[in-house]
Amino acid sequence: MKEKLVPLKDHRFKCQLCGECCRNRWVPLTLGDIFRIKNVKPIDDFLLIWNEKKLVIERREWDNGCIFLKDNLCEINKIKPLICVLYPVALSEVPVLKNDTPYYLKNGKKIYLYIDKSCKGIGKGKKFDIEKILDLCETILQESKETCWRN
Ligand code: SF4
Ligand code: SF4
Repeated sequence: MKEKLVPLKDHRFKCQLCGECCRNRWVPLTLGDIFRIKNVKPIDDFLLIWNEKKLVIERREWDNGCIFLKDNLCEINKIKPLICVLYPVALSEVPVLKNDTPYYLKNGKKIYLYIDKSCKGIGKGKKFDIEKILDLCETILQESKETCWRN
């Protein structure tokens, strides 16, 4: 599935459980994600170093899907990576387009939020809870900072 990012506005979302966001993409992991997941699966069975610098979840060969995807559901839903919790919202520290409107975290940091319009759940269900999203983004940035092991 190819991402189509557009700035987050007052979009609605309800997951349609198609599992498409769990195939054909590398899921980056924070240090916190790794510690949470290693409680249910040995690190060697899920962790992959991609492009010599990113820690991601291993994918299986037959459908290019995440190894935790089963019958279109996430086997580790309660402890899934924060980036999966955030999806179909995507976080960027720089604007994709020059005029994109920033959001501000409680600590004052400026971020940019996008949604992936290729997700089938966009336009359905409830509006996104921006406050919750901002709190989650703050955690993701903090845990990602702790994860960097190579520049
Ligand atoms: S692509 Fe969208 S609708 Fe499909 S499983 Fe992922 S979040 Fe849900
Ligand atoms: S961890 Fe779960 S939600 Fe994230 S890509 Fe894998 S199956 Fe999907």
